[in-house]
Amino acid sequence: MAAGKEISRKKTESSNAGLRKVSMRIDRVAKERPSHKEVLEFLKGVVTEQFKIKPGIKTHSVHMDEKLIKTKSAEGFPLVDKGDLKLDVASATNLFERLCNVLKRNTNVSADVEKIEQVISRKELNLDELFKKTAAKDAEYVAGLADRLNLKGEIISFLAENSLQPIFEAYADELKGHVDQETWQRGYCPICGSKPVMAELVGAERKKFLICSCCGYEWRFMRTKCPFCENEEPKGFKYFFTEKEGRAYRVETCQNCKKYIKTVDTEELGEEVIPSVEDMGTLYLDVLAKKEGYEREVHPLGFSIEDLE
Ligand SMILES: [Zn+2]
Ligand SMILES: [Zn+2]
Repeated sequence: MAAGKEISRKKTESSNAGLRKVSMRIDRVAKERPSHKEVLEFLKGVVTEQFKIKPGIKTHSVHMDEKLIKTKSAEGFPLVDKGDLKLDVASATNLFERLCNVLKRNTNVSADVEKIEQVISRKELNLDELFKKTAAKDAEYVAGLADRLNLKGEIISFLAENSLQPIFEAYADELKGHVDQETWQRGYCPICGSKPVMAELVGAERKKFLICSCCGYEWRFMRTKCPFCENEEPKGFKYFFTEKEGRAYRVETCQNCKKYIKTVDTEELGEEVIPSVEDMGTLYLDVLAKKEGYEREVHPLGFSIEDLE
């Protein structure tokens, strides 16, 4: 028992340190780009609640057969199927309720969130089922639910996805040792199979890493290849940045599928990258990319740019 207590105390301490780091970075970026202050404050509200529940998250051990992993990974299969993972529903429910309160501070959506809370208390919406369907990426389920109960689907998705994220991060932390960084090189996460939300260039050689939109894992990827359509044409991949904000943040665009991904040059930035903060702090780039006719594959926090504007 004593050992267990010790571990959970340590986890709480590191969780507090993690939250402090994110909050400081949010404050700094908000100061540099005052026009992004509101969305960054919103992000702070979300991550604060996520950090609070982190120490208590329970994961179940996932059986890993090293031989099978090698074969499956060579064929492009990620380590797990998210829909098969056992979810800590108690933690996710707790976070869901906390995130409802964060959203209710935003008057634009407070009435919609209250409606969601009401259908949950009337047992017309089963959170256990919502979490399972969200983990399995069943978009039709949420659309049907929204239709049937006259709710906003994007708000349900936001709440469900962000309630599950710390759980997937905890699983990724346990499974990351089974990934072979050098051989994977695919446009989706080697752990959970989700698409990248952003990219990072690391070190003097500017090695490229993609950041998973679901579990936060970062994996190696080729510099000049589109993660979405895998286009590798030498001229097929262009990037731009703004003179005003500098070259630490850039938009990499694919001429083939017309999608883009924002990329942080960590050497240029000169400090530790916190993906969600860098993402929310550079929405000006999303606005520009959209103007140029490019489309974003995975939205920050699951919200589209229009919702955040
Ligand atoms: Zn992942
Ligand atoms: Zn492409």
